[in-house]
Amino acid sequence: MEILRTATDLRQLDKWRSEDNWRSEQPLVLVPTMGALHPGHLSLVEAGAALGPVVVSIFVNPTQFGPGEDLDAYPRDLESDLAMLEPLGVKAVFAPSVTEMYGQPGEVTVQPGNRGQGLCGGDRPGHFSGVLTVVAKLLGLVRPDVAIFGRKDAQQCLVIRQMVEDLKIPVWLADGPTVREADGLAMSSRNRYLSEEQRLQALCLSRALHSAREMLVAGERNREKLQAALLAELSDADKMEYAEVRLVPDLEEPVAVSGTVLLAVAARVGPARLIDNLVLDLSSGGVKDGFLLGDPQRWSGK
Ligand code: AMP
Repeated sequence: MEILRTATDLRQLDKWRSEDNWRSEQPLVLVPTMGALHPGHLSLVEAGAALGPVVVSIFVNPTQFGPGEDLDAYPRDLESDLAMLEPLGVKAVFAPSVTEMYGQPGEVTVQPGNRGQGLCGGDRPGHFSGVLTVVAKLLGLVRPDVAIFGRKDAQQCLVIRQMVEDLKIPVWLADGPTVREADGLAMSSRNRYLSEEQRLQALCLSRALHSAREMLVAGERNREKLQAALLAELSDADKMEYAEVRLVPDLEEPVAVSGTVLLAVAARVGPARLIDNLVLDLSSGGVKDGFLLGDPQRWSGK
């Protein structure tokens, strides 16, 4: 596993691309992360490795943190991240410095459209511009055929999808399901900010989603009733930020709850701002897990 630090180091990928043992039909897969890896991240790497050589980027991107957010406190542990990635057969880790990514004073940033308004975009002004700008840089630097993101960050998936479509970026996008602890808590690098008691309190997010899902399974299609169920459980958090039912992919508030819907919650518990969601496909009449980008298993070639 190569550790690449700079744009120049990344040219190593071009050498590999031309090597015989890199089968030309295999896609180069990028899995972007901010490190502090957990099994959620690793599941995306595994999905990528089933397709082709994987590059994992590890970069705590300062531009997606707002003033007063946890940029300084965000966990950084490259050694332990590398130890988790090595056994998965990762081809390369791209771990650039802030100077490498932002050293040249840039003036151009990528702004999300409507999908970036509201939900996390409302609570974290500038966040999605930071995300899109760094993802555009990473896609330009690594030039992967496939990029895989976690459904856990649903709005992020959808703004990235729009950027790739609108800017005609030649990459195929896929999303992997949210990996949870045994008790339902969505895995997050920020869970380590929680005390034992707060960790129990944090279960209200997954409980809220579970109860709204049960209502959908029972046939409920009234948006207000579903939102009320989400809100009721979130009263256990220290502060509710949002509890919403939205439509995929444009995130509009549904008049009719149908098609692929996103149940999305965000709340503060102790020092952590936590998010969770379910993406549910109601199109068959039943309730199935839905995708935001694409099923990694359905990569159909270059
Ligand atoms: P982050 O390091 O938090 O920026 O996350 C890097 C990638 O991992 C993003 O695409 C996230 O959506 C994804 N991810 C984070 N947590 C999980 C999880 N619990 N399950 C699946 N994917 C996740």
